[in-house]
Amino acid sequence: MLSPEIPCDEERRQQILDDQELLDTPADPYLDTLVRVVREVFAVKTVLVSLIDHDRQWFKARIGLEITETPRIISFCAHAILGTQPFIVEDTQKDLRFHDNPVVTNNPHIRFYAGQPLFSEEGQALGTLCLIDPTPQQLTEQQQRLFSDMAILVEGYLKLRHVSEQTAQLRAALSREQRKTMLDPLTQLWNRAGLNHFLPRHQQKADELGMHLGVLFCDLDYFKKVNDSHGHAFGDQVLWEAARRISAAVRPQDVVTRSGGEEFVVLLQVHDPQELLQIAERIRSAMSNSSLSIDNQPLSLTISIGAALRASQEAPSDTLNRADQALYQAKGNGRNRVEFAH
Ligand code: GH3
Ligand code: MG
Ligand code: MG
Repeated sequence: MLSPEIPCDEERRQQILDDQELLDTPADPYLDTLVRVVREVFAVKTVLVSLIDHDRQWFKARIGLEITETPRIISFCAHAILGTQPFIVEDTQKDLRFHDNPVVTNNPHIRFYAGQPLFSEEGQALGTLCLIDPTPQQLTEQQQRLFSDMAILVEGYLKLRHVSEQTAQLRAALSREQRKTMLDPLTQLWNRAGLNHFLPRHQQKADELGMHLGVLFCDLDYFKKVNDSHGHAFGDQVLWEAARRISAAVRPQDVVTRSGGEEFVVLLQVHDPQELLQIAERIRSAMSNSSLSIDNQPLSLTISIGAALRASQEAPSDTLNRADQALYQAKGNGRNRVEFAH
């Protein structure tokens, strides 16, 4: 196996990557959508936005792969960032550099790889947009152009994101080490610790803006049945998909967390109950309007939601509790519905 070389300006490259505040951040619904589209277009099993960190590659967006990172030493993308053109391995088993790589001989059994480096404004390759498949593949010239164009879209998005207000807030609020402990590895959303961190801060921010803290307590309906009839691993994929749908249904400034098992809490700043209920309804219908497709199996899934608006002087944890009680009512009233805590 050929281990990837280290780029000659590695120190600078790493510095720029660190400055982006991309590593160990929650999944981004726009990048998730983009990798989903790329997967459809190229009909491959896996598409990743991979970032090359010190001694690992970490996936900022992924579809068709369960793990969140791999060691750099076995990473294909670490090879891809050394060039400027797409790095393509049509069949790993016929390639002396990769045939005995553990990601070829074991899971996920990579046979085909294509990685297009993603560059920062300064021209440093931070990672790749990559295609992976367990069968050998070729890209036509037209497909290669399309692939490069897709990578330009990802690059452009990452550049805009870097200068966004949202990224500035994230940087001010949390160090990278803190962030690492607040991410749920399964869904790549904030976990319970993240919820506890952001809850009082969201309330303060709402006060500053002259708005209200809104809390949506969401719980998948009859989720146990999904596990019982399709298995736990399938259930995990459903949780991943549900997390994507919820994140895509809310606004960029809203915080989505996985507070436990199949429960998701969304923190928002809103002007009034109508605004809160409108977003809750968007989440509910995002889940019920079209079936999920897991391993090409359609699955209908609904979600129940309890909504609460913080009353003046109320502790944010009490707002959260009222949202939980409203969720309990939504379940009692038949599920697949939103109840507002009065
Ligand atoms: P309800 O409509 O009342 O919410 O019914 P439910 O079946 O969704 O709720 P219940 O609390 O009975 O079951 C939740 C299930 O979620 C049980 C548990 O096995 C499953 N679960 C919790 N965490 C995970 C996880 O990380 N992965 C998988 N696959 N399942 C999980
Ligand atoms: Mg449930
Ligand atoms: Mg539950």
